[in-house]
Amino acid sequence: MTRPTDEAPLPERLARAITLGGPIPVSQFMAAANAHYYATRDPLGAAGDFTTAPEISQMFGELIGLWAADLWDRAGRPADALWVELGPGRGTLTADALRAMRAAGFLPPVHFVETSPVLRAEQAKRVADAVWHDDVEDLPSDRPLIIIANEFFDALPIRQLVRAANGWHERLVACQDVLFLPIAGKQVPDSVIPEGLRDAAPGAIIETSPASVGIMRVLAARIVAQGGALLAIDYGYQGPAIGDTLQAVRGHAFANPFDEPGERDLTAHVDFATLGLVGHASGAIASGPIDQGDLLRALGIDARAAALAQKDPRVLADRDRLVEDMGTLFKALAIRHPDWPQPAGFA
Ligand code: SAH
Repeated sequence: MTRPTDEAPLPERLARAITLGGPIPVSQFMAAANAHYYATRDPLGAAGDFTTAPEISQMFGELIGLWAADLWDRAGRPADALWVELGPGRGTLTADALRAMRAAGFLPPVHFVETSPVLRAEQAKRVADAVWHDDVEDLPSDRPLIIIANEFFDALPIRQLVRAANGWHERLVACQDVLFLPIAGKQVPDSVIPEGLRDAAPGAIIETSPASVGIMRVLAARIVAQGGALLAIDYGYQGPAIGDTLQAVRGHAFANPFDEPGERDLTAHVDFATLGLVGHASGAIASGPIDQGDLLRALGIDARAAALAQKDPRVLADRDRLVEDMGTLFKALAIRHPDWPQPAGFA
């Protein structure tokens, strides 16, 4: 017997769940929306919803590859080190990085953490011999890991807490007819709100990302046990802080994050300070965050752009997008094993 409820579109299923069980936390709404969104499409590029740094220019992945090869070299060239990418999109960054790493004598096996079947198929076109995992827990546990996450953490679900006159409340998503809208839910004790932020004005919002913290905790512990490093690049801030950063994009334009769940990319700014502290608490060394523009300049983007521009001057505009336009909003955080050297760009 088929069960029509399982086949219903995501908004209907969410509306039914909310009608039956009551409003759901923002984190649950975001997780369900993004799981559906990424599972059903390739959102990247001019024809899609948004463009990421590796899709702007091959220089981005190449420079990250050189960053990894240099780190591996100064760590004593461990023969069994793996290259890991979290949420690799089309696989473009890794494909570009592999070219640069090969030239530097580093040929690591590739492991991808990716849940979307559509994007796994795209990744296989560019990196045929990758090994895929659904979860960071499934990564090999017996060798050094060099882990790259570009625009990965921003797609993970956030929890929002909203200030009302009488205190802080979990922000929930309710449903009226077929419209989803945020409301204040159950009150939370002041003790869960970071000191210094507790007396914010009514309407203020604080975000946390238990999913991101959980992944960082696992990976930092792995790096401490196995060796290696992690480089996370995303748009972010030094939290905790007041601010509602939940946003949706569709067709390269901002949209209401509560409309059409599953049809828009939902993201939130990444709290790098918290991720760095979580890495540190797990015994790893955290560096940064530094601006993406500073990292790329330190890795030699200007020389690379000048060389490529001799064939195609449009490369200079790509360089400007990566270094100037995205350069300060996007930041890079590195986590490493205590015996591994300071990664390039973070000195
Ligand atoms: N890093 C790529 C793609 C960024 S889009 C780039 O820079 O172009 C976000 C990526 O993370 C997609 O590949 C998406 O499928 C993946 N993703 C989102 N949530 C995930 C999760 N919970 N587990 C694993 N991968 C996830």
